[in-house]
Amino acid sequence: MISLENITKSFGNSNAVSNVSFSVPEGSFLVLLGPSGCGKSTMLRMLAGLDQPTSGKMQFGDTLVADGNTGHSLPPADRNAGLVFQSYALWPHMTVAGNIEWPLKVAKLPTEERRARVLEVMEMLGIEKLANRYPGEISGGQQQRVALARMIAPRPKVMLFDEPLSNLDATLRVEMRFELLKVHAATGATAVYVTHDQVEAMTMATHVAVMNNGRIEQFDAPDRLLAEP
Ligand code: ADP
Ligand code: ADP
Repeated sequence: MISLENITKSFGNSNAVSNVSFSVPEGSFLVLLGPSGCGKSTMLRMLAGLDQPTSGKMQFGDTLVADGNTGHSLPPADRNAGLVFQSYALWPHMTVAGNIEWPLKVAKLPTEERRARVLEVMEMLGIEKLANRYPGEISGGQQQRVALARMIAPRPKVMLFDEPLSNLDATLRVEMRFELLKVHAATGATAVYVTHDQVEAMTMATHVAVMNNGRIEQFDAPDRLLAEP
């Protein structure tokens, strides 16, 4: 569903991402794993359309989303992709329900449809009681649930995560792993998840891309990765 062909991203004369190719089927949970500075965020930003590859091609299904050779790049809003960052980036002046509804307003969905979607995703994440609270009034874990709900409300085909659990304490981080996998399974979307945490990668991924210095060093299912030397 997501396929990359010889993707390179240069900043000046150094490559943040070097000649990366892979493809994963629809519904996969791909983890990009590697140390700080290896190019994970740059990969995610290119998938989101926030950065353009210097060369190479990127496809979502049959859609060519970016081609560094021609300069073609589908705008972020047209990629059917949702993004969750480490910081929750909720609007502080909007309620929980208002935050979740916001991307649906941007997409100009009718009011009734918006209301139904907001309720549906709040229930999926167990935050319906928080509907009328403001982000400043709820916990970090609850805020991350709201961010997740807001991301899935427009029903993206691709979900992009940049270290979404790294601000949470250890117990909550484990709990949210399962929450996130549950949401991913319920939606059938294809996920790309950036982390430097090996345990997270091994417990969540269907596919792991081990990155180092802008390159993919290993690409495999997590159990096969462990079996390698
Ligand atoms: P990671 O997410 O794995 O920590 P990044 O994708 O943020 O890695 O960075 C990969 C490399 O690209 C690093 O060497 C970083 O300094 C460089 N880099 C990232 N963004 C920029 C930029 N906007 N300008 C110049 N260099 C950048
Ligand atoms: P407003 O847009 O008037 O500021 P809110 O921020 O409270 O209202 O809510 C935004 C939208 O979220 C509402 O228009 C409604 O569609 C939906 N919504 C609000 N509260 C709930 C709720 N308890 N259950 C389901 N949907 C809700």
